[in-house]
Amino acid sequence: MKLYNSKTNGIEEFVPITKGHVDMYVCGPTVYNHPHLGNTRPMIVFDTLRRLFQLQGYTVKYVSNYTDVDDKIINKANQENLSEAMIAQRYIDAYQNVRESLNVKLPDETPRVTETMDEIIAFIDKLIKEDYAYVIDGDVYFRVSKIDNYGELSGQKLEDLQVGARIEENTKKENPLDFALWKTTDMGIKWQTPWGLGRPGWHTECVVMINDVFGKNIIDIHGGGMDLKFPHHENEVAQSKAICHSPLANYWLHNGMLNFDGEKMSKSLGNVVWAKDFIKDLGGNLVRWLMLSAHYRMPLNISDQTVETAKTELNKVLLVLKQIDVKQQLMDIKDHDQNDESSINRFVSAMNEDINTPNGFMEIFETVKSINKAMRNKDIDWHNVIALRNSLLSMIDVMGIKYEKLSLSSEDKELFMNWEKARTNKDFASADHYRKELMDKELI
Ligand SMILES: [Zn+2]
Repeated sequence: MKLYNSKTNGIEEFVPITKGHVDMYVCGPTVYNHPHLGNTRPMIVFDTLRRLFQLQGYTVKYVSNYTDVDDKIINKANQENLSEAMIAQRYIDAYQNVRESLNVKLPDETPRVTETMDEIIAFIDKLIKEDYAYVIDGDVYFRVSKIDNYGELSGQKLEDLQVGARIEENTKKENPLDFALWKTTDMGIKWQTPWGLGRPGWHTECVVMINDVFGKNIIDIHGGGMDLKFPHHENEVAQSKAICHSPLANYWLHNGMLNFDGEKMSKSLGNVVWAKDFIKDLGGNLVRWLMLSAHYRMPLNISDQTVETAKTELNKVLLVLKQIDVKQQLMDIKDHDQNDESSINRFVSAMNEDINTPNGFMEIFETVKSINKAMRNKDIDWHNVIALRNSLLSMIDVMGIKYEKLSLSSEDKELFMNWEKARTNKDFASADHYRKELMDKELI
């Protein structure tokens, strides 16, 4: 498996810390609203990577958090006169529903900030005691100048960052680059700490959760959207270096952003598409296919045309699977569970090149082509067709595409036989009638 590591800006051979096992953490959402379509890209991309590892026999521990403490959640709770916990739970449920409808395997664990608060406070306290952080009027800031190579992950030099940093008015910070670990607040949910009453900043939670949930201070893969690389991930690394003397993860993977009709999706542009609506219109399979049609590091453009292309491609694959099911049952052909090794191997090799889903789809189409060719033979080699079909099912499973085996009732079988008979007898009117009935039942 080769992966593009954002830390080195290059493709690297993946070497796990423990042979045959992958520890993977993906930054989760702040739960103050429904997920929009952009939120589904990391879900789908990293779920696909998880499935690809699993196909090759790896065990994967996949963890993704929920940020359930944040100003936006507090504001919404105030607006609706509800507790922050109720707001957070509402949108955590919304995220879980979207995951399910996209056939995204649920993470093994989904830590929440509110449930990790003791550990977060203890971590910040340690940073203060070891002089990596300082308290001003109850706020706590991380002292960036204490970290060698700050900016390493995002490929920026400290001097350039200093020049570019916005000088905030009335700032109490020693350095504009220093980031908040804790904020005093008189509004909304807050916790008591040795340095004051308040709530944590965003950047500490992931480091603490990784240490806590995995029970170690370095994992294999840390993922997230490209927009999280700086400052969020850079700041995670800085804290991990300070306390654990560890770079937190060996491989950093970042997915590209999503455009809608060539434009960035944003509230100000008024073109935010909610994931639940889009999935309702297109179905989970099609959304997944669409999301994986571009390489994960590239920007993905959603337009009528890309949707149409994805629909045609997906249907082509589902149709051939349906045709096999129908023929196999009509002809009473016995099943087996062997794979066509060469096609599945080609697919895995393509995907192992930094999750190259476009090339993975090419191998899927090649397999469909082979099946169609084999099915056109007068004397069908069913062992071969079923092996190819099994491989095809494994491939689409990595992409997270669901296919339910078609099961013909005796009535359906009779309909097929009548259709066949009418065609043999050149009774075209009846043949058309049976054909239409089969089409209405979505059997052909
Ligand atoms: Zn994070």
